[in-house]
Amino acid sequence: MANQEDNFKKVISHAKEYGYVFQSSEIYDGLSAIYDYGQNGAELKKNIREYWWKAMVQLNDNIVGLDSAIFMHPTIWKASGHVDAFNDPLIDNKDSKKRYRADVLIEDYVGKLDSKIEKEVKKATKRFGESFDKEQFLSTNQRVVDYKEQGDAILKRMGKSLEKEDLADIRALIEELDIACPMSGSKNWTDVKQFNLMFGTKLGASAESAMDLYLRPETAQGIFVNFLNVQKSGRMKIPFGIAQTGKAFRNEIVARQFIFRMREFEQMEMQFFIQPGTQKEWYDVWKEKRMKWHLSLGLGQDNYRFHDHDKLAHYADAAADIEFRFPFGFKELEGIHSRTDFDLGSHEKFSGKKLQYFDHETNKNYVPYVLETSIGLDRMFLAVFSNSLQEEELENGTTRTVLKLPAVLAPNKAAILPLLKKDGLPEVAHEIVDDLKWDFNVIYDEKDAVGRRYRRQDANGTPFCITVDHQTLEDKTVTIRHRDSMEQERVAIADLKEIIHEAVDMKSWLKKMD
Ligand code: ATP
Repeated sequence: MANQEDNFKKVISHAKEYGYVFQSSEIYDGLSAIYDYGQNGAELKKNIREYWWKAMVQLNDNIVGLDSAIFMHPTIWKASGHVDAFNDPLIDNKDSKKRYRADVLIEDYVGKLDSKIEKEVKKATKRFGESFDKEQFLSTNQRVVDYKEQGDAILKRMGKSLEKEDLADIRALIEELDIACPMSGSKNWTDVKQFNLMFGTKLGASAESAMDLYLRPETAQGIFVNFLNVQKSGRMKIPFGIAQTGKAFRNEIVARQFIFRMREFEQMEMQFFIQPGTQKEWYDVWKEKRMKWHLSLGLGQDNYRFHDHDKLAHYADAAADIEFRFPFGFKELEGIHSRTDFDLGSHEKFSGKKLQYFDHETNKNYVPYVLETSIGLDRMFLAVFSNSLQEEELENGTTRTVLKLPAVLAPNKAAILPLLKKDGLPEVAHEIVDDLKWDFNVIYDEKDAVGRRYRRQDANGTPFCITVDHQTLEDKTVTIRHRDSMEQERVAIADLKEIIHEAVDMKSWLKKMD
């Protein structure tokens, strides 16, 4: 556990030191769970957004984009259920005065059971070596089976109680499991209460005429209320999707996990409109497609898993999370939700406008069903960043810190380094920068010995270092050093563009989804 915490602290301090993520308003002591992205973070975030947008909008001829406003008519949040039901169950510890989400305390307890299972698997892998059959072990080892059953039973009970709004049972469960406050160890808990997560604000110049608004807690509703606008103006035929990325705001109860849980964050959501009755089929299609998108980035298959929901939100008839192994364990990264006709149907009722689709083949009108994929951009950033940050032992006994970002997402694709600050080497290096900058983000670095510059770029996540030396002046070649293997090769300046392009081109990365 201590190790996990240390690793996570390293991730946070590295993100700050290398210009990826800063605490918001830091010189005023910060604002809790709000963060700013620095010079490198802004690029990484933009690249992740683009990687998603291309996969969803550009590569699917039946999915189009949208950019709807953050402010929306307040009745939208009545219709969507957010005013009445966008609550989290909160519980306070009377001794430490710390506030928690009751469901998260219980999920963390189950997470510990999962870690125990992982430990058993590791031990057995060592013991049985080559002949180890993981699937068989998971289903036959009594200890593992018990942990799994215990975890499943707890989540099932919690899901049922949350669905029935039986908050007394949630409290009872916390007591039965003997869950203590992670800060103080105290088990002196208050009752569980519901807390609405929406931020309110006002629109209008005078106090009397001002209208109460909410900052949107999700981007999805902007898509639903524009369903007909897009369908009609784009002559879209079902099945089709609308995708958008943008800010969302939630007054999260517990916000102690860096950019995993923020009060202002960005979502990348896609609503896929389908014929009623086909939702099961599309649910499976989108689960698979989204998992392939994740795997295409090469962060390791073992770091992902699906988690099917026991507790379904008021709008859903099926839901699964894609969970990722964050530094603090497996947690939700993306949600795939079969939302039925809840949203469009509800907006019809509240607005009095028809939100239906006329099917020319069957000559019938219907309210389409919706399949949603919803991922947090900041959470995806954390997944990529934390997974990429590695400490490597080198052959000469030293260690290096390297940020092995997928090259397609790296903020800077290459650093151009003159070996010395004289003899005309900086001039040639600048010429290379001036040529490459039309195609890629590249940086020029001449400070310190070249070995230190390599280390700096490793920690920065830059996939290539290009060094200009005296031989360059003679034969127009440079050395190119690969961040991950640290191998160096001598190549012609004229070939640089192609070498970098091959490594960072979005097309070849996205093709891995096929
Ligand atoms: P959680 O259970 O972690 O609170 P959720 O189930 O409420 O998440 P959704 O409403 O399904 O999340 O939102 C879709 C995605 O948006 C999530 O999978 C996550 O990646 C992202 N997300 C949600 N809340 C936050 C937040 N406070 N900070 C950053 N990302 C978030």
